[in-house]
Amino acid sequence: MAEHEHVRVAVVGSGFGGLGAAVRLRREGITDFVVLERADSVGGTWRDNSYPGCACDVPSHLYSFSFAPNPDWPRTFSGQEHIRAYLERVTDVFRLRPHIRFNSEVKRMTWDAAELRWEIETASGTLTADLVVSATGPLSDPKIPDIPGLDTFPGAVFHSARWDHDYDLRGKRVAMVGTGASAIQIVPAIQPSVSKLVLFQRTPPWVLPRVDRAISDAERRLHRALPLTTRLRRGLLWGIRELQVQAFTKHPGELGFVEQLAKRNMARAIKDPALRAKLTPDYRIGCKRILLSSDYYPALAQPNVDVVAGGLSEIRGSTVIAADGTETEVDAIVFGTGFHVTDMPIAERVVGADGRTLAETWKDGMEALRGASAAGFPNWVTIIGPNTGLGNSSMILMIESQLNYMADYVRQLEVLGGRVALDARPSAVRAWNHRVQERMKRTVWNTGGCNSWYLDANGRNTTIWPGTTGEFRRATRRVDLGEYEVLRPSAGSPSAARVTDEAQEATV
Ligand SMILES: Cc1cc2nc3c(=O)[nH]c(=O)nc-3n(C[C@H](O)[C@H](O)[C@H](O)COP(=O)(O)OP(=O)(O)OC[C@H]3O[C@@H](n4cnc5c(N)ncnc54)[C@H](O)[C@@H]3O)c2cc1C
Repeated sequence: MAEHEHVRVAVVGSGFGGLGAAVRLRREGITDFVVLERADSVGGTWRDNSYPGCACDVPSHLYSFSFAPNPDWPRTFSGQEHIRAYLERVTDVFRLRPHIRFNSEVKRMTWDAAELRWEIETASGTLTADLVVSATGPLSDPKIPDIPGLDTFPGAVFHSARWDHDYDLRGKRVAMVGTGASAIQIVPAIQPSVSKLVLFQRTPPWVLPRVDRAISDAERRLHRALPLTTRLRRGLLWGIRELQVQAFTKHPGELGFVEQLAKRNMARAIKDPALRAKLTPDYRIGCKRILLSSDYYPALAQPNVDVVAGGLSEIRGSTVIAADGTETEVDAIVFGTGFHVTDMPIAERVVGADGRTLAETWKDGMEALRGASAAGFPNWVTIIGPNTGLGNSSMILMIESQLNYMADYVRQLEVLGGRVALDARPSAVRAWNHRVQERMKRTVWNTGGCNSWYLDANGRNTTIWPGTTGEFRRATRRVDLGEYEVLRPSAGSPSAARVTDEAQEATV
């Protein structure tokens, strides 16, 4: 990377968000952009999470780009390797590779108010950009709890998102910490081969059966021959989830019957009443992410598995000690303890117009205008920003809405012409977030009686979108210039390369 290279747009991250942004930029005729990625390949979540059993929990035909349908998904809920391969194909089909700078972790981004551009320091050099699209992911930096004595543990320790494939778990005594979405996929995948599995559960999840099956050759042939059928399938999956939203956002009481289904799912596999009691949540279903699995409970019923309620409180050498004092000796500890979500590390590295970092600006909670832009951080757009997460549907729908917003942001800058920046007005940011938080009050995420990773340290829900994906799509269709201050410098204007790009939609 040349010193002080200047680009029109710098995209950070090459997961669904960053790759989608790259496709949209080319579609807008912008080719003067780079994608800065800290790792050495694309895929984000689907590169980093390679644990046994890793798969999406939203059907693949919905959990993929609308502009890059894949008629060949092998299963209704495809595995990590297939999603990762899909993103590699997206990269090639849309000719994104020349734009990507691997091993280029962004260390700092500083707004230059005189030049109206971002100075970006990366692991591979410094560059400047008129616009930053930050797609560093909501679940990309693993969180390991600070457990006393962890450093005394002599065995293997790793996080679900950094699986140690060189360590063979077969025949080992393993402590699995956490019972979230990753853990419930890992447990049934490793239970048959380990000698002992101790599952540390702080809060039991609600688990519904996962109706996963291989997609038949006939279905795939049909999808290939008639692409409309892939779209219809996607539309149906989307519509069903849109209809569920009201229960989550306005009428959590209606979710009671879903709890009965989940209890029946548990009762089918767990015959021991004491274990059933331990596994039964005491909060409203939906308050934490509803998990889908048909093999989690059967795995927990096996004789080599112990469920320890109350969580892991201490480690002394190779002994793991539960909150209730139970001691067990293990060879390995696997943390399925989630990610830095409401304290995303990238916020520490973005320095805005007044010299404060985004983390300082967000010290009382993350907030952004339409989930995208923060006041005092001009020409900085985030993908999957605050309050854009979903409890029941595909994040790709939200990413594509934010890409629409980003594309219009770029268009607005072009229309305004010359060197120009847009800075979200504090009043607009406040008004948007006031509306979001007002709507949040009735939702199951705030009223369901649980403590989840959707809530920040102040108990504020800064992660979830309290509406349908259709509403968010409408809210992000256009950039409303009235919500922004237009900034101009005293001198010169940069030039942006504009080409027509033919690869705007493709089957991958
Ligand atoms: C195990 C797992 C399963 C999931 N399953 C589903 C599902 O079924 N359905 C669903 O809707 N969502 C699911 N999600 C959520 C998932 O994170 C999103 O759907 C989506 O993949 C996020 O894409 P992204 O591009 O925003 O982020 P990511 O995929 O996390 O990509 C972010 C990229 O940014 C890079 N990066 C981060 N910081 C820097 C930096 N400082 N400099 C340079 N590069 C950086 C990272 O290396 C990474 O490549 C799942 C998440 C996990 C962890």
